Amino acid sequence: MAPGPVTGTVSATCLVALQDAVYNTWHDRDNLIVPGGISSDNDVSNSYKEQSMGKVVTRIVIVGGVAGGASAAARLRRMDEFADIVLFERGGYISFANCGLPYFIGGEIADRDALTLQTPESFHARFRVDVRTQQDVTAIDPVAKTVTVVHRAAGLACGKTYVEPYDKLILSPGAAPIVPDIPGVASACSRVFTLRNIPDTHRIKDFIDTTRPQTAVVAGGGYIGVEMAENLRQAGLAVTVVERMDQVIAPLDYDMACDVHTHLRRKGVTLRLSTAVRTVEDTAAGLRVTLGGESQPDSELLTDMLILSVGVRPENALAKSAGLAMGERGGIKVDPHMRTSNEHIYAVGDAVEVVDFVTGQPAMIPLAGPANKQGRIAADHICGRPAAYTGTQGSAILRVFDLTVATTGLNEKTAKRLGLAYDKTFTYSNSHAGYFPGAVPMCIKTLFEQGSGKILGAQIVGGDGVDKRCDVLATAIRASMTAADLARLELCYAPPYSSAKDPVNMAGFVADNLLTGLVKHIHWHDVSSLPRDGSVTLLDVRTTVEYDNGHIDGFVNIPLDELRERLAELDNRKPLYVNCRSGQRSYLAARILSQRGFDVYNLDGGYRLYHTVTRDATAPSRDADVSPAPAPASGQVVHETKTIRLDARGLQCPGPIMKLAAALKDAHHGDIVEIHTTDPAFAGDLDGYCRRTGQVFLGGTDEKGVTVARIQKSHQPTAEATRCAATSHAAPRAAGTGKNFILFSGDLDKAIATFIMANAAAAMGRKVSIFFTFWGLNVLRKPKPPKVTKDFISRMFGWMMPRGSRKLGLSSMNMGGLGAKLIRAIMKKKNVDSLETLIAAARQNGVELIACTMSMDIMGLKAEELLDGIKPAGATAMLAHAEESDMSLFI
Ligand code: FAD
Repeated sequence: MAPGPVTGTVSATCLVALQDAVYNTWHDRDNLIVPGGISSDNDVSNSYKEQSMGKVVTRIVIVGGVAGGASAAARLRRMDEFADIVLFERGGYISFANCGLPYFIGGEIADRDALTLQTPESFHARFRVDVRTQQDVTAIDPVAKTVTVVHRAAGLACGKTYVEPYDKLILSPGAAPIVPDIPGVASACSRVFTLRNIPDTHRIKDFIDTTRPQTAVVAGGGYIGVEMAENLRQAGLAVTVVERMDQVIAPLDYDMACDVHTHLRRKGVTLRLSTAVRTVEDTAAGLRVTLGGESQPDSELLTDMLILSVGVRPENALAKSAGLAMGERGGIKVDPHMRTSNEHIYAVGDAVEVVDFVTGQPAMIPLAGPANKQGRIAADHICGRPAAYTGTQGSAILRVFDLTVATTGLNEKTAKRLGLAYDKTFTYSNSHAGYFPGAVPMCIKTLFEQGSGKILGAQIVGGDGVDKRCDVLATAIRASMTAADLARLELCYAPPYSSAKDPVNMAGFVADNLLTGLVKHIHWHDVSSLPRDGSVTLLDVRTTVEYDNGHIDGFVNIPLDELRERLAELDNRKPLYVNCRSGQRSYLAARILSQRGFDVYNLDGGYRLYHTVTRDATAPSRDADVSPAPAPASGQVVHETKTIRLDARGLQCPGPIMKLAAALKDAHHGDIVEIHTTDPAFAGDLDGYCRRTGQVFLGGTDEKGVTVARIQKSHQPTAEATRCAATSHAAPRAAGTGKNFILFSGDLDKAIATFIMANAAAAMGRKVSIFFTFWGLNVLRKPKPPKVTKDFISRMFGWMMPRGSRKLGLSSMNMGGLGAKLIRAIMKKKNVDSLETLIAAARQNGVELIACTMSMDIMGLKAEELLDGIKPAGATAMLAHAEESDMSLFI
């Protein structure tokens, strides 16, 4: 270990003496020529001075010994062999792998020592840097150019304080986990954890190893929260992620996060979205955690441990107290050379405010890559090299079990907030040639500037190969490339690695087609407002099998390959909106039709994206753990059954479903079809497919992007189900035990009654749906809707109707609203939940809330005006639910 600092007692006299000693040394060493100079208390410094061959020695002090700090120290040494470099680190470790910490907790990294990339000794041996751990820099005197250091060695009751001089100072203190001010957290600290460094990691790991917790709540669904969820699950715990937003991983847009939600749920992680931890109570049975959100009622969870990963705060106190300028986002303000407002003080890493490379706006983007590069730039600049930092674009990647999630540049939320003129595409491509085993799909969302086509940002969710595609796109953003440039990129290809048209090329082609006017498009969020009154044509060009397995309400089916022959069924005077599974076949349809005079709009991302997002929006915020595969009903399996294995890996849709339907057609009743697919959305749909076709879904497993699902051909299928298996056309579902409510009324009492019954049915484990039509839609209205464009009549309607559940009146004795108030007060007194609580509970209980699109259209209500997560659908959806139910109530 490098020699420690000069130490003295903590008595004021000694401290002064000690400070003087160092101070004098410093003053004497201005323009110091060594050897033969000053005696220093630091052996390392001395050895440098002795070997500096008559050169001027610069003394550089670094605060923080991990990503930015260690990187700066190493670069300084490479640039200046004679510099006197002192690195202070508050903790006991330097240059450790923060990014690997969650994987040690999950057990994937088994060796504790693997997390420390360098020790103070090895760092000193390699770089001759004076590393001083457990030394907290508590103050900077920018005039005297000194820092005050408190040495808090283990075992010392209080630290010893001393002063160190510098020529140049580099601050890399990082960012600390935010510990929100939640009542009860402090007193429950033995079971509440944050994760930043190695001691935190050991604390969590030791807690798991010694107390064997069964359950964990992770507050915060950011990168670290999701990584922790995965690793705690790997460690065998039941995990619930609580997230204030309606999505995990904030750098993703909601539409891209939906696949992540689905995957987390499939992996048994419970998601509680749009809610937050309100209180924590340490009880004998465990931590009682209360949750609550704006649209969620309070609820409770009992858990064995709580991880707080709600974000980080830059450690800027030291810089602030030294009078250094702060940026508007709260980080230390630096120039492109990483110099703070004081020319002798540099700052790097999570603590500094950077410039967003794409927008040019100030930003806080805590990532290891930027911290390392900034450390290097600060070192270079100190050594007289013209290094400059050009901004951070937020390239980041995350493993979520078998998924890979990567982002770079701008997301749509930010583009919208800044009012940028952008457009976006969603493309689905395979990681490599579909015919070569092991191909898995990825979805790329690309944001580009309208007009110029300049790439602004990209998000990718998939499996293999997501990393390299995101890296290519990150490079494209750095190089200010356009969609046309992406289309032109020549990228490596052989079947095991890619396709002749790489996913990045595909993203470029699609964006370029839009920019050059070859195709017009709409998005999943535009679908609900498409007219269903016959004034436009809504066309689905997938195969009949796919269409029957689920389609967007109001879209008629003409498979692409029949389109040219069936043109007479379409009216070319009406705008035509076309969809397929991913947007690719519908693009072909759009080209066929637009060249025949149709005004065509292609649904970007197709049914797959639409279905993923709308399904997620209606997913209950309290999920159950992965449901075990239901056991086949007794008598279903006969002894001569066989298992048919189907390899549908890498198949583009509709390949897997066609293959499955064909296999089921040939199978004998009781046979099991085991299908291996790499299309996560298909896997998610299987349960519904089986219900619709009368087969038995025996469950599935996921591993490394491959879903293996087992489907048993129904032993005694209904006539319709047999027809369905034979023809792969959807069949009406057999009546089940579901409960189907149709809420026509907008009266408070009727709405309350509906929700009470719906919640009771859901509590009995029944599948429940409520179809809101006409005045019933008012229950779902947001009290403060976003601005939407409407015609005068719709606006008038909007003013006249009650805006949301709180404005509803009673069906009788309303007395100008007094009756409604009275009822609410009585309900409260009698401990009956309010309508709002009942609505939230229904959503948590998985009750499907469906808004009648036809009524919405008539009443001029837009989807954005309704509560988030309501599924827009038509009467067909209601009737489908009715068929699955043994009770339908029209209220
Ligand atoms: P840090 O690396 O945090 O180092 C700051 C050091 O300064 C700390 O050790 C601290 O003790 C010390 N210090 C602070 N104040 C003082 C003081 N006054 N005196 C002495 N010492 C002081 N980023 C990615 O890009 N990819 C990932 O996968 C990833 N995973 C992560 C996983 C976890 C669990 C965590 C916590 C972070 C992860 N990050 C990841 C973020 C990344 O680690 C940080 O962006 C990066 O470490 C920031 O570097 P830094 O030098 O600014 O701060």
